[in-house]
Amino acid sequence: MQLKNLTKQILLAMLFGGILGAILNAFFMENNFVREVLVGDIFHVIGQIFIKSLKMLVVPLVFISLICGVAALGDIKKLGRLGGKALLFYLGTTALAITLALSLAVIVAPGEGFDASSTTVQEFSPKESPSFAQTIINLVPDNPVEAMAEGQMLPLIVFSLLFGIAIVMAGESGKRVEQQFNDYNAIMMQLVVILMMVAPFGVFCLIAKTFALQGIEVIKPLISYFLVVTAALFIHGLVTYPVLLKVFSGLNVWTFLKKMRQVQVFAFSTASSNATIPVNIENTEKELGVDNSVASFTIPLGATINMDGTAIMQGVATVFIANVYNIDLSMADYLAVILTATLASIGTAGVPGVGLIMLAMVLNQVGLPVEGIALIIGVDRLLDMMRTAVNVTGDAAATVIIAKSEGALDQDIYNK
Ligand code: ASP
Repeated sequence: MQLKNLTKQILLAMLFGGILGAILNAFFMENNFVREVLVGDIFHVIGQIFIKSLKMLVVPLVFISLICGVAALGDIKKLGRLGGKALLFYLGTTALAITLALSLAVIVAPGEGFDASSTTVQEFSPKESPSFAQTIINLVPDNPVEAMAEGQMLPLIVFSLLFGIAIVMAGESGKRVEQQFNDYNAIMMQLVVILMMVAPFGVFCLIAKTFALQGIEVIKPLISYFLVVTAALFIHGLVTYPVLLKVFSGLNVWTFLKKMRQVQVFAFSTASSNATIPVNIENTEKELGVDNSVASFTIPLGATINMDGTAIMQGVATVFIANVYNIDLSMADYLAVILTATLASIGTAGVPGVGLIMLAMVLNQVGLPVEGIALIIGVDRLLDMMRTAVNVTGDAAATVIIAKSEGALDQDIYNK
């Protein structure tokens, strides 16, 4: 397969999808055929099929790939070190992200003089988030099949890790099973490749539908909020990660950014880190040269617990809501926001829109009105797409840096 051409096709699909969607939104949404059939049926059906086929691969791929990765490591100590590094990197970059977002938001002060009547306020009812103790208990599945069926990532990761460790410990039987899993893994990767070949159509429909429904109008009353989030996302994606990559691995950052484009488009059009896992694993292994033993572990883990883009939105949203309601935040409040948002990102699932739900937890922490979320729901879809692209970039950057430090990065592939 011509991967280069495919990247170009996917990027073009995104561009034309966006342009067509914006034109439809501006001039043709009154038309029944356009609204009901083209956008409501055709774009919707093709887009949903595309997202579902991505999601379809996540559970089997994470299960198989992670088992292969652990078995290939062949050493539980190494696994512990890998986990420690990943956790440190993920939490560290999230704290950095939210600090950046808060600083920018405090300087620009979005929401001052905001007129709430200028935006359509939608209903928002926050869900209870599970307690910390329950979150820890939930790491272990009652039943691995149930965890798979429900797509619960952390319990699935725990079960797969244990299964891989047992393979290493099981001697000859383990060796035979490991070989089988390696074959399954090769087949799963082919499935990802098949999916990527139809991706331009899926991406086109998803983007066209979103822009046709959203239009640019929704952004207007919230322009300052929207721009601050966008600016922080760009700075984090284009400055923070490349600097970290350079400092910790010495690798060429342009190569990284260029090779991430395709994954970012997937994340952008699906607004789901989870759905992007298959493509991100494939890209970090085949394009960035990371060994499966690292990528199969850090990418799904990152998609589940590392949400820098989401933390950025939460930081800016907190300041925005405080400004709108005329509430002053103290230094202690800002620190509480950094801490809560960093922890919240662990509990945020990599699916569309959860970041907003977790924002309720952050607002509660500093005593801001949770109803404030209703003000920003209108623009959240577009921001969700952008922050998901940043989320998955963070997962890949961590993966590359960790792989380099573990001697599990093939520089010839990386530089190719
Ligand atoms: N959509 C984001 C993701 O999947 C999570 C969020 O911020 O809502 O990474």
